[in-house]
Amino acid sequence: MIQPPEGQHKDSAGDLERDVPMEDTDAPPTTVTTASSTTPSTTTPIPTAPTTKSNHSEPGYEDGQDQNHCGDQQREQREVIMPALNDHSEGPPGDSEGPWDSSRAQHPENGVHLEPQPAHCSSPDQDMSYISGADLFGYVGIEAVLDQMRHKTMKAGFEFNIMVVGQSGLGKSTLVNTLFKSRVSRKSCSSLHQERIPKTVRIHAVSHMIEEKGVKMKLTVVDTPGFGDHINNNNCWEPIVSYVNEQYEKYLREELNVMRKRRIPDTRVHCCVYFLPPTGHRLRAIDLEFMKHLGSIVSIVPVIAKADTLTLEERLDFKHRIRQDLAANGIQVYPQKQYDEDPEESILNNSIRECIPFAVVGTDREHQVNGNKVLGRKTKWGIIEVENAAHCEFSHLRDLLIRSHLQDLKDVTHNILYETYRVRRLNQANVDFSELGLPPSGSPLYSSMCSTLCSGTQDTCEGESQL
Ligand code: GDP
Ligand code: MG
Repeated sequence: MIQPPEGQHKDSAGDLERDVPMEDTDAPPTTVTTASSTTPSTTTPIPTAPTTKSNHSEPGYEDGQDQNHCGDQQREQREVIMPALNDHSEGPPGDSEGPWDSSRAQHPENGVHLEPQPAHCSSPDQDMSYISGADLFGYVGIEAVLDQMRHKTMKAGFEFNIMVVGQSGLGKSTLVNTLFKSRVSRKSCSSLHQERIPKTVRIHAVSHMIEEKGVKMKLTVVDTPGFGDHINNNNCWEPIVSYVNEQYEKYLREELNVMRKRRIPDTRVHCCVYFLPPTGHRLRAIDLEFMKHLGSIVSIVPVIAKADTLTLEERLDFKHRIRQDLAANGIQVYPQKQYDEDPEESILNNSIRECIPFAVVGTDREHQVNGNKVLGRKTKWGIIEVENAAHCEFSHLRDLLIRSHLQDLKDVTHNILYETYRVRRLNQANVDFSELGLPPSGSPLYSSMCSTLCSGTQDTCEGESQL
């Protein structure tokens, strides 16, 4: 049961905090500027993908508008460049037959490749040819769009919302602080904050603005203290399901507004890190229930908490049994096989899937090891180096969540999970538009609303035309 909203308050660390409901999305977050000289990870065995796997532009988002804007810039550039090309008395390199004729690009006899188009690229009445860089007459400058996108993203910043779920004391707050190398989540046992462990699953979101090398990220950490802490944990996932759906609903309402914001505040949970206690046994009923209920609405990344308490054999066996239990119960965790976009991505994701759940160790302390400062946990028998892949799999998790798949987590949330929610919500029998704050069908504003609905992906538009 969710406790009544307690509103926003500041803790002694000055963090902006909010309990459900999250009415303060627009509240200015705290700013954390990370030191650029962060300790590099010792090893990173998972093959790392490019930082951004895909560059999705979300409808109504600045990124999407940016791309249109970029397109305009490209058109302007062409208008300047093309006359110059036409005035040019020579043809492309190796071609001595006079000025370049763009129409020749359409003909295979002219030495330009015409490749069959994937079904999604061309409509029946529109042919498209593929012109590779080697076939271009000269440098066009298309690649400059990447710089433009980078510049826009750096200016606008981006949002990332991460949820941590697991029993109290499993090291959720410590791990989030380790991930972002800052105090973005307060520890429940800290003497500074006499935080009582609540009697119910209370959902608690804290936002921070983190800036590193000019890139701004609004990070929201959604904590769920109290999850699984009771003798009777029946339905303890329900408040979490409600929270996730509430964020989708909030986004949907904003998206459907006729006068919608240029940039819709995104409070949707992009990733849920689920903490398994290091029992060395199997998945418990509560773990299975949670992942079954949440797996279809949010990207779940399971981790074995406090992995320093397991021997290497225990860790391996536990991981193996967890994967067996997941498979036996038909539970798919992130990254799901069916969302792999191409063979290259499948290879990368397979290596991640073989390693899941990551056995992690968290800390907020630095220690001297061989003259270097390392993040670690000091024990009587030595220092467990958190970022050393020979000691634990924290670096795998950090690489997945931040360095290789952050954008993909956002894309999966927007394109698949939110889309499923959106289609279901809008397709509900006798959907009551007034309930969504929309005009009734037949009213003058109705058609305007329909065009707003159709500003999503093409697939969705087709789905919505059946409404
Ligand atoms: P939370 O209640 O899940 O947020 O847990 P906290 O982050 O507040 O951590 C609870 C206690 O566990 C603290 O004393 C931490 O120092 C400790 N702790 C956190 N991570 C680890 C870990 O990876 N290994 C071990 N052995 N202890 C940890
Ligand atoms: Mg905590």
